[in-house]
Amino acid sequence: MQEILLVEDSNMFGKMTKAKIENQCNAKVTWTKTLADTKNALQKQKGGFSLALLDLNLPDAHHGEIVDLVVDYGITSFVFTGNLSDAVREQVWKKEVADYILKDDPNSITYIINAINRIQKNEDCLVLVVDDSSMYRNKLSELLQIQKYRVLTAPDAKNAMEIINKYPEINLVLTDFEMPQIDGCILCQKIRSKFSMEEMAIIGLSSSSNKSLGAKFIKNGANDFIVKDSFMIEEFYCRVNQCIDIVNNLTKFKDLSIKDYLTGLYNRRYFYEHGEELFKQAQTNKTDLFCAMLDIDSFKTINDKYGHAIGDLAIQHISKILKKTIADDAFVARIGGEEFCILGEANINDAKDICELIRKNINNSPLMFDNKSKFVQLSVSIGIADNNIDTLEHQINKADRLMYLAKNDGKNCINI
Ligand code: GH3
Ligand code: MG
Ligand code: MG
Ligand code: MG
Repeated sequence: MQEILLVEDSNMFGKMTKAKIENQCNAKVTWTKTLADTKNALQKQKGGFSLALLDLNLPDAHHGEIVDLVVDYGITSFVFTGNLSDAVREQVWKKEVADYILKDDPNSITYIINAINRIQKNEDCLVLVVDDSSMYRNKLSELLQIQKYRVLTAPDAKNAMEIINKYPEINLVLTDFEMPQIDGCILCQKIRSKFSMEEMAIIGLSSSSNKSLGAKFIKNGANDFIVKDSFMIEEFYCRVNQCIDIVNNLTKFKDLSIKDYLTGLYNRRYFYEHGEELFKQAQTNKTDLFCAMLDIDSFKTINDKYGHAIGDLAIQHISKILKKTIADDAFVARIGGEEFCILGEANINDAKDICELIRKNINNSPLMFDNKSKFVQLSVSIGIADNNIDTLEHQINKADRLMYLAKNDGKNCINI
């Protein structure tokens, strides 16, 4: 749970903000109303606050002194203000805050909740800053760390590629243009030869006055471009957050298009698409690839006796056992209502052992429901075929026929 510090002298706004945050975020809010109270709260709070929301104007501090106090504790801070003159904006951004929130805006609470959730998510985001100037590397890292991004840095493109290869989970690369040996645009090309725009975002940066540089960066695969000398911190944060959102959303959409909503296993369409690749690879390299077809036994009876909702739970239960038993060793999909298909690199005898373990694990783990007061015993029949065959389709058909023979043999068994 997050510990959030709220400093707000208005009773109404403070009460409402505290209640909304505690309702909608996994957070406990400590609410103070003055600079003096806040000093006490900061000293008392042993574990520290992960985030602070600060009113710029307090009865005992009229000039934003509260921000200096809290930021000095290293706490990521948001500022509330009723006034958005350019002078106030400039004053706020000088103080190394994460963002400001307009109090009078009817959407301000929604904005706060979104900002809190974003900051929490940022802790899982990894950003690489590539710049030959250590001054800029430090400046950009600091700005990102205020938003709680995890940051790595590299002084040149070669070093950057080594880091990217080591941490392929990097979400965003910020790269300078002018660097010794390899420039930022060539670095973009190198990154794009390995990672698509939906896997890793890139923002180009340069202090150069070359007006065509933005287009050049984007044509070489960058998602966006920022001119270093003139960018305002606010714009920097907007662009960084937007790029991260785009990458995360594309990953989510991709997941939705290749995975099954009920179980999180791969869906039928992706099974055939990726399965073809695995089959071709195995035939080219002359390696073993088994296909196992698995069908839940007498599933209609479960639906008829307990209802479709329990039927769905049974499908999810079996999917979890499949994931747990095979882990990352094989490719598993839900290809029909109560039918699953597995492709794995093993010969038919090893495949039989793997499937026997799956069969036993399913048969020995009844689905418990209604607060564990009821249970259903589950079983599956499995057919396995090897890749000594001309096409994946024929291999799948063979596994399917063998599965039906296992049904005829009395179910809860394997046929090869
Ligand atoms: P067998 O042992 O021969 O495989 O018998 P069975 O009852 O498992 O097979 P059958 O093909 O007769 O019935 C499968 C049932 O699965 C029919 C269908 O209504 C149900 N089903 C398909 N998809 C879903 C689903 O997503 N959720 C639920 N609850 N039921 C589903
Ligand atoms: Mg440079
Ligand atoms: Mg079936
Ligand atoms: Mg069935």
